[in-house]
Amino acid sequence: MKPRTLFLISALGLISSYLIYNNRLNQKSEIISKTPSNTKIDSDSLEVIKKPTKKSFVTEKKILKKSRAKDSQSTLPHQLPITDPRHLALADSQGNIYPDNLTVDEDYVVAYGDIIVGESRYIQDYESGEKILKVSKPKLWPSRRIPYRIGEDITEAQKKAIINIATKLESEVQLKLTPYNPYEDKAYVFFKKGSQHCYAQVGYTGDINEVALNEGCGQGEIFHEVFHVLGFFHEQNRFDRDDYIRILWENIEEKHYSQFEKFPEESFPENFLNMAPFSFETIMLYRPTAFSQSSDYSIVTIDGEPYSVASEPTKNDYERILFLYKDVSP
Ligand SMILES: [Zn+2]
Repeated sequence: MKPRTLFLISALGLISSYLIYNNRLNQKSEIISKTPSNTKIDSDSLEVIKKPTKKSFVTEKKILKKSRAKDSQSTLPHQLPITDPRHLALADSQGNIYPDNLTVDEDYVVAYGDIIVGESRYIQDYESGEKILKVSKPKLWPSRRIPYRIGEDITEAQKKAIINIATKLESEVQLKLTPYNPYEDKAYVFFKKGSQHCYAQVGYTGDINEVALNEGCGQGEIFHEVFHVLGFFHEQNRFDRDDYIRILWENIEEKHYSQFEKFPEESFPENFLNMAPFSFETIMLYRPTAFSQSSDYSIVTIDGEPYSVASEPTKNDYERILFLYKDVSP
C-alpha cells in the first residue's frame, strides 16, 4: 500500500533574510519559511546557527490555505543555488538538529529518511510549540549490554534477522544485544511493527528506543536501523562529505533537499569525524540514486562517478563501532 505520506515542512528561515529569493508561493509549493526573531546569522559562512525558541510546525492544510492566499509570498530556506555545497542542517550549539522537512506516518514523525524525531500523537503539541521536534546529538549506550525487546507482531524472518544481528555484534564488536528484563530495563531497543518503511531513533535515549519495521524490512535494513540506534547518522550527512562526494541537486526534487543536508561538526560524537574518515564502505551511505528524479544520480563521488553500496555492515562499520564504544564497559 502506498503510504499516505505528508511532507510537512516547518518554517525555519534561518538564512532566508540573506537570500534574495522572494518567491511567490505557488499552488503546489510545500515550503513556507519564516525568520525566527532570535536567529543570528553569520553572513560570511552561513554556518553559525542558533537555536530557535519556537519550532513552527506547518500542516499541509495550513500550507494549502496559505498558498491560496492572494499575493502570499515566502522566502525559501533551501533555495540556495543548487550547486551550493553549504546546505547545512539547522542545529544549536550542542549539536541538536532541528529538521525542517518532516514525514508523518501513522505513529511517527520522521526526518532524514528514517530517523524518528517524534510521535504522531503529539502533533498538536508540535504545532503549538509545546513540544519541539529535534534530532538530539547522539548519545552512546552506557553499557555494552544493550537490552532489546521484539514485539509480537514482528515477522519470523525479522526475528531471525534480529538474532543474527545480535550474534554478529557480539562476535565483531563485543556489544551484547540481550533480551530485556521488563523489571529492570527501562531503556531498551524495541523492535516493533511499523506501518511503512523502517525507522529508528538515533543513539541512546534513556528510554525505549523504538525501531519500527514494516514487513518488508530485511536484515540489511534492520542492521542499518541498529546502527542508528548505536548513534550513527547517514554518511552523506557528514559535515565533511563535500570532500568525498558531490550532491547533484539538479537531479533531486526540492522537497527532498533536506535528505542531503550536512550536519554540523558538533552533532557528531567527539573525534568521530577525524577518527572515522568518510567512507563508501558503510551501510550508512545512501545509494547513488537515492531520492533522485527519474533514476538519475543524486550522489556521485567527488570525481563524478557512481559507487556501489554495502547491504550488510562492512569491516569499516564494525571498526567505527569499536572506536565509538571503546570506553564503554561491558
Ligand atoms: Zn537511515
